[in-house]
This record gives sequence, C-alpha cells and structure tokens, in this order.
Amino acid sequence: MASGTMEPVATFKLVLVGDGGTGKTTFVKRHQTGEFEKKYVATLGVEVHPLVFYTNKGPIRFNVWDTAGQEKFGGLRDGYYIQGQCAIIMFDVTSRVTYKNVPNWHRDLVRVCEGIPIVLCGNKVDVKDRKVKAKAIVFHRKKNLQYYDISAKSNYNFEKPFLWLARKLTGEPNLEFVEMPALEPPEVLMDPTLAAKYEQDLKDAAATQLPDAEDDDDL
Ligand code: GDP
Ligand code: MG
Repeated sequence: MASGTMEPVATFKLVLVGDGGTGKTTFVKRHQTGEFEKKYVATLGVEVHPLVFYTNKGPIRFNVWDTAGQEKFGGLRDGYYIQGQCAIIMFDVTSRVTYKNVPNWHRDLVRVCEGIPIVLCGNKVDVKDRKVKAKAIVFHRKKNLQYYDISAKSNYNFEKPFLWLARKLTGEPNLEFVEMPALEPPEVLMDPTLAAKYEQDLKDAAATQLPDAEDDDDL
C-alpha cells in the first residue's frame, strides 16, 4: 500500500550523541531502508535516517539524527537537540575516555530535552580486548537510563534500544516487534560464548549496590 493512503506512522525524533569514533554512524546505517531514505539537512550538517519498526501496536518511525562529525570538535548546536523526543548516548567499550564523556553528553542533551527517554549504549562489544566492563558502567543507574551492550558491526542487540524507547514513548510495556527490519549483513561475528558471559556480567552488576548509594537515602 502506498504510505500516503495509510494512517500516519507514529514518528519520533531520536537524537544520537556520543564521542566521535564510537560507532554512531555505523550503527544507524545498519537499517537498510533507513539508510536508503536518509535525508541530509545541509543547514545543520546532519543526516536524518527514518528507521521504521513494525510492532504489535502498529508501525513506529524513529527519525534518527546523526552528525556529520561535528562532535569531534566540541559540543553540538542546540538545533541538533531541539524537539528531540528520545535519545541514544553511545560510547565505545574499547575506549575508557568515551565512557568518561557520557555525563557531558547527557548534560548537553537534557539541558534542551528535559525528561525524554534515553538509552545508553556501549558499542563494539565484539572486540576481544574490552576496556569498559559491565561493573564499571553505572551512569545509567544514577540517571534512570536503560543500558545495552551492542556491536553495530555484528548487529548484536541492534533492535534493543529501539524496542525500549518504543515502549516508553507509546506507554505500551507489552509492545513487541512483529518482524525485524532488514539489516546489513554482519561484518564481524559476535562470539555467542562471549555474549552469554557479558549478559551474565550485566545481570550481576545490576544486582550489586552502587558504590555511591548515599543519594538514595533522600527518597
Ligand atoms: P562515529 O564517529 O561515532 O559516527 O563512528 P563511526 O560509525 O564512524 O565508527 C568509527 C569506527 O569504529 C569505524 O572505523 C567503524 O568501522 C568502527 N566501528 C563501529 N562500530 C563498530 C563495532 O560494532 N565493532 C567494531 N569492532 N568496530 C566498530
Ligand atoms: Mg559519525
């Protein structure tokens, strides 16, 4: 059916941020139709990828904003964030400094987009020599974000951030994807044994108390 004759698809602006080199562009380009239909916004120097997912509550589209590399030279302009409805903050698990910079990206984001659902993603978990391990990843727990290990190059957990955001944005906790979008074929393979270990490490980390739990006493 031509899209013009159908109900408008629920559409949300998704702001993608994180240090240069963490894999943001690689990640967003995995979704084949989104990559095919992307639009370059010259005035802002951004690419907008429309990523559609089919769910049991109807289709949902994330217009994912990706920079042309401006983040390597400092913060992004407000125009990048304005009217953002959800966000992904990405770091690279092979580079500690990219995790250290996550609070800066979060601060810049929430200054413009208060109270939006945000997912933190640690990318490149296919790399054997991982530097940022599950128990060191605590920022999301302090700020009530969701966290996922991902590997853009292997498609590992590609859909997870979108599913979590879709549930938050629609207020439908039972929302499920009814089919997976067409993705680029994996460039590397995620070792299933390693993936299982990392999933257990994240569960163990979630079960331990935060080192700095004083703030919780104020509740
Ligand atoms: P951006 O600056 O955040 O947009 O990052 P890019 O998407 O340009 O990626 C930076 C580099 O990281 C490139 O050389 C990518 O091939 C590499 N990269 C991206 N994702 C992954 C991944 O999941 N695994 C590995 N091993 N490398 C990745
Ligand atoms: Mg990029």
